[in-house]
Amino acid sequence: MTRMTRFSDGTIVPVLGQGTWMIGDNPKTRDAEQAALARGIDLGLTLIDTAELYGDGRSERLVGEVIEGRREEVFLVSKIKPENAGEMTMMLHCEKSLERLGVERLDLYLLHWQSRHPLEEIVAGFEELVDEGMIARWGVSNLDIRTLARLEQIEGGENCATDQVLYNLGSRGIEFDLLPWAEDRSMPLMAYSPLGRGDLLNHPALQAVADRHDATPAQIALAAVMRQPGVIAIPKASSVAHVEANAAALEIELDAEDVATLDRAFPPPATAQPLDII
Ligand code: NAP
Repeated sequence: MTRMTRFSDGTIVPVLGQGTWMIGDNPKTRDAEQAALARGIDLGLTLIDTAELYGDGRSERLVGEVIEGRREEVFLVSKIKPENAGEMTMMLHCEKSLERLGVERLDLYLLHWQSRHPLEEIVAGFEELVDEGMIARWGVSNLDIRTLARLEQIEGGENCATDQVLYNLGSRGIEFDLLPWAEDRSMPLMAYSPLGRGDLLNHPALQAVADRHDATPAQIALAAVMRQPGVIAIPKASSVAHVEANAAALEIELDAEDVATLDRAFPPPATAQPLDII
């Protein structure tokens, strides 16, 4: 079963995608990583998140090999490094990403984090890439709600499709303000590190809820993130077994008792919090 959400332009994507940070770095694990991503596509985890930063382009190259011949099945996301997001350099860097990925167009191109280049210049650059047909839409990552509100006021800024932010049970600050803000605008948010990079998974509360569902702590961590409407989780998994387990998390529905157990262990925010960033 694949659950879907939609961007404000009507494009539909799965709520569970695949991350690729640290994938493609080690020649010895490359085959397993490729098999994992390919299996994920088979299982409907067709949104793939990468970045020019990851392995200095090695992650994009590996993704390019996986999606060769299957481009139409995939919703492809990459990111530009903030220092490259200036007027003179943006198109060149987008071209390099397209080349490494072996595609003509990205489905979504994100500013990786806040840049020294003015937001006006970045928005104009993104809009030009849309006009040139190099990207279908653009968004941002690691921007807090104040910066998003400023972005919204810039000409073209209303076209920002998403903010990709750190969101997992250990980092729930966005539930207080950013999630409702985005929901008001029908803007999905992308949850990066939804498993807390693996660090969350030994928590006894996660194990307790996992036991009730005959599931694993990782599956419960994902189910908790995907409970929020309009959130797209992008776990990174480098084995077929992990990808299959993650896909199965789509079937898990947490009940009130599960939520109460998780809330006691990982309290939701009671006040506005600064945006957590890795
Ligand atoms: P994550 O997805 O929270 O955690 C990855 C870790 O969880 C890996 O050690 C992985 O192990 C393990 N794992 C995956 N599935 C599992 C399962 N079913 N059971 C047990 N362990 C499992 O961390 P992340 O890679 O930091 O975040 C995900 C993606 O978000 C990144 O890959 C990247 O695409 C994106 N991201 C974006 C930003 C940003 O600034 N925009 C920052 C960080 C991450 P194996 O590798 O052994 O499977």
